[in-house]
Amino acid sequence: MKIESISVEVIQYESKLSRDSAGHAHAGQPSSAQIAMLTVMAEDGAKGYAFAPRELIRPYIVEQYFKKAAIGKPVHARELIWQDLWLRQRGSGAQLTDRAMAILDQALWDLAGRQLGVPVYQMLGGARTKVKAYASTMCGDETKGGLSTPEEYAQFAETLVGQGYQGIKLHTWMPPVSFAPSVEMDIRACEAVREAVGPNIALMLDGYHWYNRTDALKIGRALSRLDFAWFEEPMPEDSMESYRWLTQQVDVPVIGPETIGGKHQSRASWVQHQACDILRAGVANGGGITPCIKAAHLAEAFGMDCEIHGNGAPNLAVVGAITNCQWYERGLLHPHMDYDEAPGYLNVIVDEMDSEGFVHLPDRPGLGESINFDYIEANTLERY
Ligand code: MG
Repeated sequence: MKIESISVEVIQYESKLSRDSAGHAHAGQPSSAQIAMLTVMAEDGAKGYAFAPRELIRPYIVEQYFKKAAIGKPVHARELIWQDLWLRQRGSGAQLTDRAMAILDQALWDLAGRQLGVPVYQMLGGARTKVKAYASTMCGDETKGGLSTPEEYAQFAETLVGQGYQGIKLHTWMPPVSFAPSVEMDIRACEAVREAVGPNIALMLDGYHWYNRTDALKIGRALSRLDFAWFEEPMPEDSMESYRWLTQQVDVPVIGPETIGGKHQSRASWVQHQACDILRAGVANGGGITPCIKAAHLAEAFGMDCEIHGNGAPNLAVVGAITNCQWYERGLLHPHMDYDEAPGYLNVIVDEMDSEGFVHLPDRPGLGESINFDYIEANTLERY
């Protein structure tokens, strides 16, 4: 059985997210947005799907890389196809990104699961059927009643605990917010949230990503005092040495790397050089499910947790497959946004949460997305 075709549909839908000039998502008014759906089809007509920003899987990427690496290959040869893409990546002149590789890899896993009638998290290891979710807030803003002050973070944290969350991760203020970045405001927000939720809720901070060592140390010492569960990406991850330095200075566990390239290979270096206490990997910016699960197993071999970055079906599948990950990242959340409302192209969100703060792994075959194909048919702008 071989892979026969790869195609894309660009879909129009209504989104309530807005993006600031630095690219951060905020709660906004309904507006028209676009997303692309990649479809990989096998000779028997079985299909796998993955959603992506349309620019990520533009026609050039699909024709030059996806089709050349996958069409005619055995339908379950995910590792072979991933390795083929990886070899093509160097010569692509940075056109073939880790994120694009991840989209094809996701669709191949989804295809396999749908064809075999098995959820992907079970194919990957099936370690559990539910996982605690932490509430991952949007970045701070200047919206009154939103996330504009430490006190508003504290009020929102109380709301989230009321919904069942056992953990909360703050994303604090970043430019273009007029007063950001601010070490003092970050610390005040963390203090206010700890004060509001008490000692038994796990708290994490993911703040401004370009602090220098001195500022990161100041915040890290505050988080140690406030008994935070981890400290995420306060400095550019290009300098592993800075993280090695910070990890040696503070008691709060330092987690990383999230955004650097290099997939599981770069993460092996961070583990070897003790640049983090908890490893971080994700499907989207780690090159796919295939390398993400390798990173998680690498961490396990060193007695480390590997916390999976980001929400959505592929990340949830990896979390469900391993035991050395304590949380699923549910978000991004904001007081003015209803996370549980599915976008038009899905029938339901994949990560509904129960009143005790657990997300249950979907038992649908494949990655578990419940796709609204009628909506997609009616709202397709472009096919290639
Ligand atoms: Mg992060």
